[in-house]
Amino acid sequence: MAYKAPVRDFSFILKDVLDIDRYSNVPGFADASFDLVQQILEEGAKFAEEVIAPINRAGDLNGCKLENGVVTGPPGWKEAFQAMVAAGWPALSTHPEYGGQGMPAVVSMAFGQMTAAASPAFSMYPGLTHGAYAGLHANASDEIKDKYLPKLATAEWGGTMNLTEPQCGTDLGLIRTKAVPQADGSYAISGQKIWISSGEHDFTDNIIHLVLARIEGAPQGVKGISLFVVPKVLVNDDGSLGQRNGVQCVGLEHKMGIHGNATCVMQYEDAKGWLVGEENAGLKAMFVMMNEARLGTGLQGLAIGTAAYQAAVDFARDRLQGRALTGPKNPNGPADPIIVHPDVRRMLLEAKAFVEGGQMFILYTALQADLQRSADEATRTKAQDYMGLLTPVVKGYLTDRGFHVASLGMQVHGGSGYTEHFTASQSLRDARITMIYEGTNGIQALDLVGRKLAAQGGRGVMTWFAELDAFVAENQATAGIKAYVDAVASTKAKLQEATMWLMQNGMQNPDNAGAASTDYLQLFGVTALTYMWALMAKAAQARIDAGDSDAFYANKLATGRYFLERIVPDADMHLTKLKTGADVLMAIPAEAF
Ligand SMILES: Cc1cc2nc3c(=O)[nH]c(=O)nc-3n(C[C@H](O)[C@H](O)[C@H](O)COP(=O)(O)OP(=O)(O)OC[C@H]3O[C@@H](n4cnc5c(N)ncnc54)[C@H](O)[C@@H]3O)c2cc1C
Repeated sequence: MAYKAPVRDFSFILKDVLDIDRYSNVPGFADASFDLVQQILEEGAKFAEEVIAPINRAGDLNGCKLENGVVTGPPGWKEAFQAMVAAGWPALSTHPEYGGQGMPAVVSMAFGQMTAAASPAFSMYPGLTHGAYAGLHANASDEIKDKYLPKLATAEWGGTMNLTEPQCGTDLGLIRTKAVPQADGSYAISGQKIWISSGEHDFTDNIIHLVLARIEGAPQGVKGISLFVVPKVLVNDDGSLGQRNGVQCVGLEHKMGIHGNATCVMQYEDAKGWLVGEENAGLKAMFVMMNEARLGTGLQGLAIGTAAYQAAVDFARDRLQGRALTGPKNPNGPADPIIVHPDVRRMLLEAKAFVEGGQMFILYTALQADLQRSADEATRTKAQDYMGLLTPVVKGYLTDRGFHVASLGMQVHGGSGYTEHFTASQSLRDARITMIYEGTNGIQALDLVGRKLAAQGGRGVMTWFAELDAFVAENQATAGIKAYVDAVASTKAKLQEATMWLMQNGMQNPDNAGAASTDYLQLFGVTALTYMWALMAKAAQARIDAGDSDAFYANKLATGRYFLERIVPDADMHLTKLKTGADVLMAIPAEAF
């Protein structure tokens, strides 16, 4: 069976758990009643299942081709992209003044999960375009916005993010691409950018590159980097397309997965570019796009896990091997389907519990993105703090676990999963990059412990702890969910203990913070998903108590129980490991490795 978008899960989260109708006073929500959102999700599911999922395999098998500077996508991809633009999907949450539909992020992030599950490589073309749109919207002059945003808002033009160069990925202070001021106010951009996703393709008439470069004479390091908008084809004042600009794709990367996405070496030779935001403040400006891309990557990791999980369930229902330990369950067949075996169920439930908790975490975070536009200052401040705090957790935890789920999916398939007859291998290969790009997960962990915990004097993390405490206090007596409430209290206590440990030991020796960072991020992820499961359990239990006999709710609670009993214990392990500090890691000299 092919990918089936989990619309029922999304509806449950948006209606029963988050109750989005109560936000009608927040911009975007006034026109997004739950009933309308439900229709959008159903149409979006059809599009993902019927148009995008069927081309995913062709992307893996054929990849992209570069001939004379022109990149062509896999068979059927250009048509699917253009169908998506014609149907208005990329414009779901862009601003109405630029031709968008102005829907809240909770809607576009639900649709984004469907497209990324249907085809992770395909979803990067609209994903990066939306990121470029957001980066320009937040930082560019009105003149630049008017020129580019209407076409980016709808994805009639593509967008890209150009940071990486051969000598620098993580350490962007080493960027060499240079920008020379021109008499007409533009800049001549020269240099090479590598591994640029969706850098060149024939899906759209133009591609708008957001490029980090150093203006001649700028200071060394990150304080001398500026952001530029560099179109592939120059745009005339009347909006028509003019001459080809001095930028081209000179190479395509051969890589482990996401073959359908063109990963390009981009050569800039005196390309005309325009400054976005202030001189030498480019990294800060680019962070709008990078943060969006980090959330998108977390979503992508989760989405790949969702598709991998579904494929594993299908296989486990069909594959006949051995007999159930308690006696045959398929007595008329030669063997039982492997889904009867407890160890196979362990793998499937591990995947299901993570995927459903992750879906909730993505939509909870998307809601914070929306609440940043609330008229109420306290709500806005909290939402902004949460976006800073949760973005590295969404990126790091969901991509690590997404890959783990893809690996479990392959394991459920046995040897068949390692062959290319099934989709398990593609999912595993596609998932691996999500832990690396948009800042490796190690860098996400450092961002969390080094910057985000301390931001505004720790206000974000203190608010987060207070929210979890309030949930525990309010629900002490809520019938049916005691185990969830206890788990929120215990994981929160461990996260708080880890935070205190970091404050004391990280100050003393910064290597302690670096050594603890990955376990801290994982502990944060387990705590966040425990809370997400508790919110879902409360809503499901309320429906059961109200007499709703839909098995969906009982199954939700049973899946949550797996999370509580088999995943929550990871919190202890991460706390124990992180408290061992840096000594053990730094004890031997580099040459002893
Ligand atoms: C398929 C693909 C698509 C990509 N798409 C884009 C794109 O669209 N645009 C773009 O600009 N870039 C893109 N990238 C680049 C990507 O973002 C970088 O590869 C990534 O940020 C890591 O940088 P790096 O590869 O240079 O690794 P390095 O920075 O060399 O890191 C190597 C290892 O060292 C660790 N490390 C590095 N510095 C530190 C530190 N200070 N502390 C602790 N650990 C550290 C890292 O975590 C990593 O494990 C893409 C890459 C790939 C493979």
